[in-house]
Amino acid sequence: AAKSAGGNRYQFFSEGLNQKAQERAAIEAALREALKNDRLTLHYQPQLDLRDGKVVGMEALARWQDETLGAVAPNRFIPIAEQTGLIHELGAWVLRKACAQCKQWHQDGYLVSVSVNVSIKQMMQEGFSEMVVGTLLEAGLEPRYLDLELTESMLMEKAAESVALLRMFKSLGVQISIDDFGTGYSSLSYLKNFSVDRIKIDQSFVRDVTVRDDAVGIIKAIVAIGHSMGLKVIAEGVESQGEEEKLLSCRCDQVQGYLHARPMPAAEAEAFLERAQTSG
Ligand code: C2E
Ligand code: MG
Ligand code: MG
Ligand code: MG
Repeated sequence: AAKSAGGNRYQFFSEGLNQKAQERAAIEAALREALKNDRLTLHYQPQLDLRDGKVVGMEALARWQDETLGAVAPNRFIPIAEQTGLIHELGAWVLRKACAQCKQWHQDGYLVSVSVNVSIKQMMQEGFSEMVVGTLLEAGLEPRYLDLELTESMLMEKAAESVALLRMFKSLGVQISIDDFGTGYSSLSYLKNFSVDRIKIDQSFVRDVTVRDDAVGIIKAIVAIGHSMGLKVIAEGVESQGEEEKLLSCRCDQVQGYLHARPMPAAEAEAFLERAQTSG
């Protein structure tokens, strides 16, 4: 009896693993198809200056609604894209689409930046910077209106290799932001060597700000470090007025979050820009 129970347990365990592997394989195959057939879309979320309320940028976030799998979240498909190498094609598509959209907004009279999330694997690939330059030229977009978001943990994983690449982007005039800041154990000496323009405080700190006194202290410290290095500081995931008031008191420069807008299709994002401009 014991033996058969053990056998069953083993079978259960391996079926669990199998199911996971099959699900991943299904996502990989469907993602490949979706890329081929141009079935991904981008949503855009506004980034606002905390002092005057002006929209300074729009973050492009990948969206995928699959015919059979339904809506698949980026936190699900981006890691699979990274592991399978599809991230290069996906990343190039996102960049092209986002730069073209940003140029369109400029032509419509809205001089905002566009932020594009980049995976470190993608950035480390041979020819990445040439691809970025080519995409900017094709879109007719000035480099200073493109902001590349790299997560702190990815940068630290490849810290030594990142320094030269980031310096190169600086010389091109492309902006760089460190995403999910505070979750990746940054070494301050690397931070000093990274040519970045902005820090994005991770939403976990923002969430704590109205409930825990020490969270305010942490945010103040991050802002002080950022400002001492000449960087802008943006808080992500801002959901309430209370959070925003605390962030203002911490001297944070910019905010992004559901309080102002959820990520939305390009047309809705443009309507938001229009409303923001007319309301001053
Ligand atoms: P991220 O770059 O840190 O983006 C912020 C995430 O927080 C987004 O989730 C956004 O929809 C969500 N968010 C924004 N405001 C709020 C808020 O007020 N409250 C809460 N609870 N959430 C908020 P999303 O769109 O699901 O993306 C998740 C992650 O997937 C992104 O995190 C980014 O790391 C990755 N990602 C998305 N699109 C791309 C892409 O095109 N390329 C790459 N490499 N990664 C991407
Ligand atoms: Mg981001
Ligand atoms: Mg983030
Ligand atoms: Mg994130």
